[in-house]
Amino acid sequence: MVDDSAILKLITMKIYILFIIPIIVAYSCTKDKKLNVFSLSQDKQLGGQLDHEIRTNKAEYPLLDSATNPDVYKYLYQMRDDILSSNEIFHRDDFNWRVTVINKNVLNAFAAPGGKIYVYTGLLKFVKSGAELAGILAHEITHADRRHSTDQMTKVYGFQMVLNVILGSDTTGLVKTMARNMASGAASLAWSRDNESEADSMAVEFLWSIKNRKAYQINALSNFFKRMDSLGLGTTSTTIAWLQDHPLDATRISSVDGHWKRLGSPVGNLFSNEYFTVIARLPKY
Ligand SMILES: [Zn+2]
Repeated sequence: MVDDSAILKLITMKIYILFIIPIIVAYSCTKDKKLNVFSLSQDKQLGGQLDHEIRTNKAEYPLLDSATNPDVYKYLYQMRDDILSSNEIFHRDDFNWRVTVINKNVLNAFAAPGGKIYVYTGLLKFVKSGAELAGILAHEITHADRRHSTDQMTKVYGFQMVLNVILGSDTTGLVKTMARNMASGAASLAWSRDNESEADSMAVEFLWSIKNRKAYQINALSNFFKRMDSLGLGTTSTTIAWLQDHPLDATRISSVDGHWKRLGSPVGNLFSNEYFTVIARLPKY
């Protein structure tokens, strides 16, 4: 006769084989060797759900039309391609990298999982050079490429809730909240200090390792930080949302510049004139 403890052992073993081992395998398969409970295709699905919300909710996200603003998009896509040519990107071929402009006076840029990057015209008008914007895009590309977004959302909303959104079975409207929090830089979604510091240093690395390098000044991101800093730390104004989910402290400026110095302080171009020529074509508010 089989006793209860033997049956229990058998059930435990089955649970282990069916559920635990696949999770361990999924964990250990990520290129960046970091723990992420979701697969790459789930990152893409979650990004797709958020992107759908952003593309269909025109009242909250008035998108800059690519048909009537071809020069702005051409410029941004060239910059995206420059950055993605870096051999430091893990998921260049895994994700469908897309840059979308939201035509609103908000100082923010953000990344959804699976390679979806959004930039507000408020930020484009605040930025002073192509090199600065390249640093910001590279920073956001890092959040998607190193899969910080799914990680962070799991911490904030819980695994099951995020999974429901991925599977399209969420009935609570969470996808709307997620998109709104990302777009407004809600403090609840603030990146961890580790994620921010990785995104800052990879932004410098990506620009440094561009193939047939367009010679951006690779630490121009610190100029952006300095000007953001002068607007006032700790402000809660939604127009400077970027500060809320990318908390700024003095070490970030010195660490971007420090990283640049470790690479030999390469002198590049800010590409300011080129930048202002394109940005002048943005519609007025
Ligand atoms: Zn960030």
